Amino acid sequence: MSKPRVCYWFRTDLRLHDSPALKAALDLTPECLYPIWTWDPHYVYKARVGPNRWQFLIDCQNDLSTSIANINPSSKLFVLREAPQTLFPKLFKEWRISHLVFEKDTDAYARERDERIIQLAHEAGVKVVVRTGRTLYDPDELVKKNHGEPTMSVSQVQNAGKLIGPIPRPLPAPKSLPDPGELSLSFNQERPTQDPDYNSAHRKGLDKSYSALAGPNGDFSVPTLSELGIEQSTTPHRGGEKNALEMLLSIVMDKDYTATFEKPKTAPTAFSPQATTLLSPHLHFGSLSCREFYWRVQDVVNEYKGRASNPPTSLTGQLLFRDMYFGAQAILGYKFGQTYGNPHCRFIPWHLPSKIDIESGLITNEYFIDSATAQTYLERWKYGRTGFPWIDALMRQLRQEGWIHHLGRHAVACFLTRGGCYIDWERGAEVFEEWLIDHEAACNIGNWQWLACAAFYSQFYRCYSPVAFPQKWDKEGRFVRRYVPELEHYDQKYIYEPWKAPIADQKKWGCLIKGDALGGDEKFKIYPKPMFDFAKRREICISAIKNAYKVGLYGNDPKVLDGSWWKL
Ligand code: FAD
Repeated sequence: MSKPRVCYWFRTDLRLHDSPALKAALDLTPECLYPIWTWDPHYVYKARVGPNRWQFLIDCQNDLSTSIANINPSSKLFVLREAPQTLFPKLFKEWRISHLVFEKDTDAYARERDERIIQLAHEAGVKVVVRTGRTLYDPDELVKKNHGEPTMSVSQVQNAGKLIGPIPRPLPAPKSLPDPGELSLSFNQERPTQDPDYNSAHRKGLDKSYSALAGPNGDFSVPTLSELGIEQSTTPHRGGEKNALEMLLSIVMDKDYTATFEKPKTAPTAFSPQATTLLSPHLHFGSLSCREFYWRVQDVVNEYKGRASNPPTSLTGQLLFRDMYFGAQAILGYKFGQTYGNPHCRFIPWHLPSKIDIESGLITNEYFIDSATAQTYLERWKYGRTGFPWIDALMRQLRQEGWIHHLGRHAVACFLTRGGCYIDWERGAEVFEEWLIDHEAACNIGNWQWLACAAFYSQFYRCYSPVAFPQKWDKEGRFVRRYVPELEHYDQKYIYEPWKAPIADQKKWGCLIKGDALGGDEKFKIYPKPMFDFAKRREICISAIKNAYKVGLYGNDPKVLDGSWWKL
């Protein structure tokens, strides 16, 4: 019998260490192994991906390709610029593939795509091997052991995890890799005009790169940002398995930090270096295995002589949160990403206070905002022009660097939703989706629901003040001075409330607080006034959420589905 000809499809696992799927591929003792990445128009044209995340992906691909070539100089990562749905049937035939192997992906879109690919493989007589490797536990197993319900708390993950069994120890990286087979692409004559995404590619001027299946030089190279027509990235954070493993090593070498880590005690205002691991983008792209992370930390904890921290606040506890959101998404699918139709997400009539006030009936006061005002709030929030330096600093850090600390994410998400603007969490999640280098659909959606008190968490009366909260961590305002340089010379007394500074001081410090936009000249910069009175907005938000809770609708309520909720 002839030996298997295996296509290994890299997706969420841009690494060689601890890859159960790659091991499964190698266990087939193949005659040849094609390590490939396929272009997925869903991500290129439909998802929101800013230049920083593109850069991180390209870094990971380059690093992986080099690592593969270091093991076998005849091989590398072969990047094919076509949608898997149209590419695979041709590739199976051309390269005489007998097995397709990949890591399981439970994201809503990925499930649909993979079902289609599995069907195409079966039609072509290709065997498909799928292995879990992206999370500590298989999200579907977590759900099964959680009585078929989405995992909505870390303790549910822990209980379900106990029933599943111990988290597997990481696997070593392979020491050898088979050669790929011949790399002919005789079918690559036609343009994929039947593909609906082709037209949007054409419109964006990406026609050439899209139709050149093996890249501009025909060598299956990892693309560059300019080939993709994407502007330059601005993030200092770089991708790749090599970087990820070095970062992890330096973390676990600090045994005190690793064993006593408590998330709520880490400072959101710390930068260069940040207070948490910053391994999230590596976990997202799979340049770091979460089990490698888990066990390297757990081994330190097991040997630690002092008092180690415990989940959920410990470092391994953070990975349980990640699994929790994956479990919730695995069962809810697309519904997880929205309020509408989602049985686990509270319906809150965002943009305006909910209709019924518990004490006084209808709210018709001056804090009612219309959609245009809500849109202005959203834009000012997004681009760091709210007039609240703490919020603006965070949003500018996010835009420039693609990463902000967890409590920073809390602060801006609370501010946009239930603690200031009263704007739908889905709008905020879209901005994060575009700008985060660690954007993980499950974690982003779940955390936004948490912060909006729409699911997972319900203590809506606990809001973050954009003044008092950062002061707790950074009295001098170093973080604000770094990301809102207009305020660099402000006295620390006014750094979080610059609008309170006397005009003479504003002039002395070179920045006037006025209007609603940035600007200024050589002499004086201009930083906007706060876009609303925070204390008043907070009050109105809290009472509005209170009403929404009292009405008690969820996203799947018939009154939400047919739009009649407002008659309540
Ligand atoms: P560490 O504190 O070092 O934690 C280690 C790892 O645990 C992280 O890398 C991450 O994979 C995981 N983790 C930690 N906290 C969480 C959490 N609350 N939820 C899920 N996983 C967690 N995380 C993402 O990975 N992708 C996202 O798109 C994302 N969006 C978020 C949106 C909002 C509104 C909020 C409040 C949080 C979001 N998070 C997201 C969770 C969390 O903020 C980041 O995972 C964390 O800040 C990443 O930094 P780190 O690697 O230094 O984390």
